[in-house]
Amino acid sequence: MSTFDKQTKGDIFFNQRDNELDKLIDPKTGKVYSHLVKKINCMLCQSPDFTVLFTKNGFDFARCGQCGHIYVNPQFDEKATAEHYNDDSKTMEFSYDFISSDKQMEVRGELYKNFFSQLKSDIPNGKILDIGCSIGQFLKMGKDLGYDVMGLELNEKAAQYAEKKFGVKVERKLLNECNFEDNSFDIVSMFGVIEHLPDPAGVMKDVYRILKPGGVFIGICPNVNSLVCMVLHQFSKTFTGRLHLSYFSEKTLRYLFAKVGFKNENIQVGNRYTGKYSLLNYFQFLDPFGDEIDEYLPAKFREIVTNESESKKIEEKMNELGIGLKLTFIAKK
Ligand SMILES: [Zn+2]
Repeated sequence: MSTFDKQTKGDIFFNQRDNELDKLIDPKTGKVYSHLVKKINCMLCQSPDFTVLFTKNGFDFARCGQCGHIYVNPQFDEKATAEHYNDDSKTMEFSYDFISSDKQMEVRGELYKNFFSQLKSDIPNGKILDIGCSIGQFLKMGKDLGYDVMGLELNEKAAQYAEKKFGVKVERKLLNECNFEDNSFDIVSMFGVIEHLPDPAGVMKDVYRILKPGGVFIGICPNVNSLVCMVLHQFSKTFTGRLHLSYFSEKTLRYLFAKVGFKNENIQVGNRYTGKYSLLNYFQFLDPFGDEIDEYLPAKFREIVTNESESKKIEEKMNELGIGLKLTFIAKK
């Protein structure tokens, strides 16, 4: 486990998650028990054509033959998924420790600050809906800046944290259970949520509907075209078939947004973070998510990649090339 995972208790969370997954795998096939999953068409374009790229922990990861979207197929059926998000499984408990750790709060705080500073001139006040608001950190920052905030969160423990610690309003509902009126929000956000949705096209249609004209949909998700995913493939932690159902690139994200009504010229997609430690470990034939080690790297290469100001330049370059670890997006209605 990496130092970052240890600091944030991510190590306990990831181990627990893997242990729970093992129980769902049929030893005869090496795949998830067939009664728990169903075959689906492409989540973005509904095409039945796909190619399996690889299998990991019992799940097949497929690329759509029509639009190129990468997604898990077959997937857990909706009932099994709902049970997972609603239950009080140990994984969710550890996940909560992980997300409320100081280090995680600091990294996310930086990201949110960045979004707010980009939105400040266009949307200095108004209503925010954060879908999958987790412990409510983004809403708290929005509230402090004078926005009228509200979150949706199915995990009871996270919702309570948001209400008690940050004093923000949270509904334990899915978006389609809320019956919000058309044109009712200035900002709708999803941070690390869109990749989990069984029906991203359906949910995005609703997001577009509830946004006011001129309002924005913002958020972040993994980048399947990141250097980490392109090098590590199935060894990348991003690929987790039970939780992450979609793997977006800038192209497929734009395709989805355009499909529900956003105009391409009103969609900004950027990217952030390098995930460089997992890559550096892998280059040295080590566990990509093990302790961070650099002793086996060639000397001159090590000098550059471990130097702080050089690393910053590398990150900027990677983001410019579109191969950063995460995609960030702002789509204006
Ligand atoms: Zn497709």
